[in-house]
Amino acid sequence: MKAVTLRDLGGPDELCVATVKRPDPGPNSVLLRVAAAGICHHDVLARAGLIRGAGKDQTPGHEIAGEIVATGSAVSEECIGRRVAVYQRIACGVCRHCLGGRHDLCYESHVLGEHGGGGYAEFTCVPAQNALRIPDNVGFAEAALAACPIGTSVRAALGAARIGPASVVLITGAGGGLGLHQIQIAKSVSARVIAVTTSPAKEAVIRRAGADEVIVSRDLRFSSEVWRLTGKQGVDAVLENVATGSLDESLRSCGRDAIVVAIGNIGAKGVEINPGLVISRRIRIAGSGNATFADMHLALDLIARGIVRPMIGRMLTFPEAALGHALMEQRAVAGRIILSGW
Ligand SMILES: [Zn+2]
Ligand SMILES: [Zn+2]
Repeated sequence: MKAVTLRDLGGPDELCVATVKRPDPGPNSVLLRVAAAGICHHDVLARAGLIRGAGKDQTPGHEIAGEIVATGSAVSEECIGRRVAVYQRIACGVCRHCLGGRHDLCYESHVLGEHGGGGYAEFTCVPAQNALRIPDNVGFAEAALAACPIGTSVRAALGAARIGPASVVLITGAGGGLGLHQIQIAKSVSARVIAVTTSPAKEAVIRRAGADEVIVSRDLRFSSEVWRLTGKQGVDAVLENVATGSLDESLRSCGRDAIVVAIGNIGAKGVEINPGLVISRRIRIAGSGNATFADMHLALDLIARGIVRPMIGRMLTFPEAALGHALMEQRAVAGRIILSGW
């Protein structure tokens, strides 16, 4: 089969099309013909060698939708032909976190594609339980975003930040794949959304996603404007998709007892925090990543009901994966880049 593999860790051009052996499903797995795969910032970091586990000759990609074409010996053949979206975490299933429904916390787990076997390929194998049925009115490209970034955004906004109708929410990196969906999820519970972007070109799409206010801030100095927009009250929650160069301003945008949920760290490096600010405003700082099965079911439901519109910025073919990664690095596309077709 054809697959996009990594010649070596490094730049986008390390991604190349190769002919590899089609995988056979293990007893509890299914074989999917991949119809669409999203390009995640996680893939970009892994390709560049900034995430442990990624290596050469591996196929990346965890945002996958496709059709089941074969089943392992312990899986009913009834599901052959089913259209499915993939829950992206391969977890142990038996630890206290998995049994509590929090597969995102499992120690014995990894993101699909991190160690190869990912979705930038004609076929991929996943555990049968990770293959969730796609509602009939949802297309493959849209469904590819159900786990990540949409499920990831459900976890961050509704799970970690517990956003509700009374919340004023600040979203950084609002024009990215996470941000554009977080805006819609926050609006689905009637929160007020203040969105921040460094890119004037992304303002219109951020407004279309439903943001109440958009701050375009090339230098990421946005806290005084947040202060003005909130009548000097600050926000109740921050969904921090950028962190690098923005976390200090996010903390300064917080009202008392606010929560800052870190989901992305664009530069993959450390940032300084002012403890005095955190203490005086009683700010809670939390992390969030991936989703639970429940989050992904909710994401598919929100998509099927038209409450969350998957924001697809660009469709490319699988052989154009390197171009997709380059566009991601340049932050040139608002919304997700989807690979589909050879
Ligand atoms: Zn992702
Ligand atoms: Zn587990």
